[in-house]
Amino acid sequence: MTHMIGSLADRYARWGRSDPGSALDPRAASYLTSTLGPPSPAPAIPLPEVQLTPSRLDAAGLAALEEAVGASHVHTDRESRLAHAGGLSYLDLLARRGQAHPASPDVVVSPGSHADVVALLVAAERCGLAVVPFGGGTSVVGGVQPEPGAHAGVVAVSFDRMADLIDVDAMSGTARVQPGMTGPVLERLLATRGLTWGHVPQSWERATIGGYAATRSAGQSSTGYGRSDATVEALVVATPRGTLNLGRAPSSAAGPDLRALFLGSEGVLGIITEVTLRVRRLPTTRWFEAVMLPDLDAGITAFRELAQARACPDVMRLSDVAETRATMQMSGPTGRTADAMNAYLRARRVTDGAMAIVGWDGTSTKQVRARRSLAFDILRRHGGASLGRGAGNSWVKHRFQGPYLRDTLMDQGYLVETLETATSWTELAGLRASVVDVLTESLGSSYVMAHVSHVYETGASLYITALASAGPEQAQRWRAAKRAATEVIVSRGATLTHHHGVGADHAPWLEHEVGALGVDLLRTIKSRLDPQGILNPGVLLPAQG
Ligand SMILES: Cc1cc2nc3c(=O)[nH]c(=O)nc-3n(C[C@H](O)[C@H](O)[C@H](O)COP(=O)(O)OP(=O)(O)OC[C@H]3O[C@@H](n4cnc5c(N)ncnc54)[C@H](O)[C@@H]3O)c2cc1C
Repeated sequence: MTHMIGSLADRYARWGRSDPGSALDPRAASYLTSTLGPPSPAPAIPLPEVQLTPSRLDAAGLAALEEAVGASHVHTDRESRLAHAGGLSYLDLLARRGQAHPASPDVVVSPGSHADVVALLVAAERCGLAVVPFGGGTSVVGGVQPEPGAHAGVVAVSFDRMADLIDVDAMSGTARVQPGMTGPVLERLLATRGLTWGHVPQSWERATIGGYAATRSAGQSSTGYGRSDATVEALVVATPRGTLNLGRAPSSAAGPDLRALFLGSEGVLGIITEVTLRVRRLPTTRWFEAVMLPDLDAGITAFRELAQARACPDVMRLSDVAETRATMQMSGPTGRTADAMNAYLRARRVTDGAMAIVGWDGTSTKQVRARRSLAFDILRRHGGASLGRGAGNSWVKHRFQGPYLRDTLMDQGYLVETLETATSWTELAGLRASVVDVLTESLGSSYVMAHVSHVYETGASLYITALASAGPEQAQRWRAAKRAATEVIVSRGATLTHHHGVGADHAPWLEHEVGALGVDLLRTIKSRLDPQGILNPGVLLPAQG
């Protein structure tokens, strides 16, 4: 896959330079027009016209930061500040497209070592500056906003100088990694040693190892490889009150697991400066396949049985009928896949079904075939039929195009955003229906679709995509819709987030998840590690009073 992420101009208000594969083909354009109405192209303010507010960093602050990390690693130039002006949610991008004066950090610093990070925290605390750890900046929940809180300015911390693979213990299957490394680079380096980490979220091209750890990210193969936090063997964390080295064996009973405090801490308790990851042997066989199921309920039952029979493929993703229909209308299927799908639908005298993608990684063909056979026994029992490997491989080929397609849709003026949660098998179907209903009702002219992924024995996650017609007041429309969906999610006892994290956007609902005592406990821990509250103000913890 070509690395498409380019200059600031390519990524300030977009995911990246347009990927030719993600341009809207005429079929997709006409489907959108018929479903949502005509586009209303909304060009972004040209980057040269974007004006930065002057940096609030004073001479004393600048000198302190320079002393901490070296003068050449402290940046107050326009390019650096704009490149760290926030995350990549739909609302972030919409705002940056239309804003002549975006909020941005006052300074960007690039520490080169753990010691630099410690010195930087001391300097920032002394000067009363807020500190925003900024990995790939792909947060979609307001995790990297340049928010000063009660402080005099904002320091964004870039990890571009802390992006190395430190060492690999191939015998034990662990890799020590600095926080700024991205997945593609890590996988390339591990592959030379016959190893893989196997964490592939859709944000893979840009997100970092530190960001994954800080948000407990889950990837497309998490059903098989485990979510990112489950693969963390050890962590090094710098806090304003000192350093923690956590995790020393594959497993331990030495009191509560303090790694868990920092996995998902979203930069509010400390800065992760090193992660030891559990890695595996590089698969020699990869097998992806699409499966058609009669409907979502049949698919959910089949996925549950797979999980409870411990027969899960490594990748499991089940689209509802709306998402299946949109995929068919906008991008596929062709050739043998189309023939297989038409035969399936004709045989059942139906026009729609629910499509699943399943995939296996293995170190021998025999092993993959055996696992596939076990899984297909269950899938077939619930009306599943293979659409072949072509459709599976096509999904693999296009799986990182979603964010580029979002740019294209936003260029056309459409509203496009996703949200996610997880719940038990008992609740899953009902929760999907309620969230889809509330989003559809709130957004008006819209197309809302969902898929089930990240499958566990007791339940699964639900990922929902909303597309809505072009027009003014889109930001308000989405805010209202997201609020309504979140209320439904928490009122039904599902989790506030399965993998995007809490950020600033979900913080007002954290108490629903962990209770008032839980929030109080987190605040108490923060006040011990970060007494001046310089780390990531406004993120994770709800505002007080
Ligand atoms: C198009 C798109 C697709 C996505 N797909 C997925 C997906 O499939 N699965 C998934 O889980 N998420 C997904 N996300 C969300 C996002 O990519 C993840 O949350 C990711 O883990 C963030 O990594 P990052 O390096 O970009 O972190 P950032 O966005 O830079 O930071 C995220 C949070 O972690 C903190 N942080 C970053 N680095 C450190 C550090 N070293 N120490 C302490 N705190 C730190 C930040 O302050 C912030 O609060 C997607 C986002 C986008 C835009």
